[in-house]
Amino acid sequence: MTELSGQSSFDSHKPPARDLLDDCVHCGFCLPTCPTYQLWGEEMDSPRGRIYLMDLAERGEIGLEGAFFQHIDACLGCMACVTACPSGVQYDRLLEATRPQLERNVRRSTSDRFFRNAVFALFPYRRRLRLAAVLGLLYQKSGLPKLLERILPPRLRAAQALLPPVRLREAFATLPRRIRPSGPVRRRVALLSGCVQDVFFHEVNAATQRVLAAEGCEVLTPRRQGCCGALGLHAGREEHAVDRAKRTIATFEGLPVDAIVVNVAGCGSSMKEYVHLLADDPEWAQRARDFSAKVRDVNELLAELEPRAPRRRMDAKVAYHDACHLGHAQGVREQPRALLRTIPGLEVVDLPEADLCCGSAGIYNLVQPEPAAELGERKANNIRDVAPDLLVTANPGCLLQIRRYLGDEIPMLHPIQLLDEAINGEPR
Ligand code: SF4
Ligand code: SF4
Repeated sequence: MTELSGQSSFDSHKPPARDLLDDCVHCGFCLPTCPTYQLWGEEMDSPRGRIYLMDLAERGEIGLEGAFFQHIDACLGCMACVTACPSGVQYDRLLEATRPQLERNVRRSTSDRFFRNAVFALFPYRRRLRLAAVLGLLYQKSGLPKLLERILPPRLRAAQALLPPVRLREAFATLPRRIRPSGPVRRRVALLSGCVQDVFFHEVNAATQRVLAAEGCEVLTPRRQGCCGALGLHAGREEHAVDRAKRTIATFEGLPVDAIVVNVAGCGSSMKEYVHLLADDPEWAQRARDFSAKVRDVNELLAELEPRAPRRRMDAKVAYHDACHLGHAQGVREQPRALLRTIPGLEVVDLPEADLCCGSAGIYNLVQPEPAAELGERKANNIRDVAPDLLVTANPGCLLQIRRYLGDEIPMLHPIQLLDEAINGEPR
């Protein structure tokens, strides 16, 4: 580790705040909940160790390259440490301040930069994703995936294994722009259809519209919307995140709605974060505050409403997997469970090590495939232990990551799809 002295090793643009660093009393309560500490037992790969490194860098005692960079880069950003910390340390804010510093001030290897740039040149763009869906379908049907499986480098192998089964009709489908409920309107909401979600998980968006309407919500889904910036925010690409946040706010702020509804845990947590992301921007700070105050995960919103639509009976055991960006980052744990329990006959069970990340974590399973694989296997084994008929989780990244390690053993759905089946579909 390079020993420096004097002024902070961070640049002056939003470095981790000294008072947030000082909140940590080094008690270590967060260590057992941290996935990377669980994997490697290394202090510097724990939340306490990472905060200590940030503290040293802020004092100018170490540089940002080398060990500092590696230990921060290995963090999943799962925020289990935020839940576990009895002192209220805001590790989420610290990490969000630190990652852009690394992106600006540390040069990644050429291959790492190339891979990450490729991910960000594709994921936030719906048209490019649709083209990728067509190519992905041809690739999946070509027999090449099996042939190349053993020879691809780990990152490309992960990308291949995580590609969802492509359904072109879904990838090119559009959502109705306005849906009115049949009875009286209880809430007016706008839906974020997203980028990856819109192309690869159109059915989840469609189910969200149907369930919201059945429960008395008028749903507006603006056509001209796109990526909310979540992947960029979590990866430290501040410019990208700020640009996407502003576009998203501009799209939604004029709509006459009570809430902006999201069905992707990672997107919801980022949209609630806009308030911090744009806090120093005089033109956008208030707009971001107003916007973030209206953001609700779909589970959160529906749990506020007394169930109105009749549910069909479903005699099944369902395991609920807490997506980190819903449970740890937004504190939404009880609402999805309570909603599922409104379905008669449904038994909702928790998983062992429920607080432990599945290894998905935004683009973590693409850029850090080895630890992500260990966490994915562990999650799959924990699911097998409770032997559910179905697994539900409110994040597409978790669905893809778990499917990689569980295969087709247990069907997986977003909770809103199960609710849609109970309200609008045939009994399972
Ligand atoms: S982050 Fe919280 S739980 Fe972890 S060492 Fe610091 S004060 Fe303790
Ligand atoms: S965000 Fe997750 S991986 Fe990172 S330090 Fe906290 S618990 Fe560990």
